Amino acid sequence: MKVLVNEIPPEGLNIKGELDPAKLNLATKQINFSSPIKTECFLTRSKDDLFAKCRLTAQTKEICSRCLTEFDMNIEKDVDLHYELKGELSIMLDDNLKDEIIIDYPMKVLCKQDCKGLCPQCGKNLNKGPCDCGKS
Ligand SMILES: [Zn+2]
Ligand SMILES: [Zn+2]
Repeated sequence: MKVLVNEIPPEGLNIKGELDPAKLNLATKQINFSSPIKTECFLTRSKDDLFAKCRLTAQTKEICSRCLTEFDMNIEKDVDLHYELKGELSIMLDDNLKDEIIIDYPMKVLCKQDCKGLCPQCGKNLNKGPCDCGKS
């Protein structure tokens, strides 16, 4: 999202946009977005500073690292950005917003916090009920 510095009124400005995940350079991590990343920012500025309070929302397709079930994960994040203005007429927010998503992205995703995983012996998904292993 490109912000035109001079078009931000004294009372601030709301802008909405979308980041195309395909255009983000997410080479270091594999993130399967199932929707565009929606961004909503409130911009304010003083003479030398630009502040952007943004909310990011996106959906990703994930595979639980414990039970291997595929599920949709919702990402929601509030981001505060600050730019020092040195005469720029426009500021691109995309890179910073993208970084925020990557910073927060978990190395291991779980379908739920207390996912019980798979039984190491029979492979049954223990979220769907106990298996017969361990019973004699
Ligand atoms: Zn799971
Ligand atoms: Zn079992």
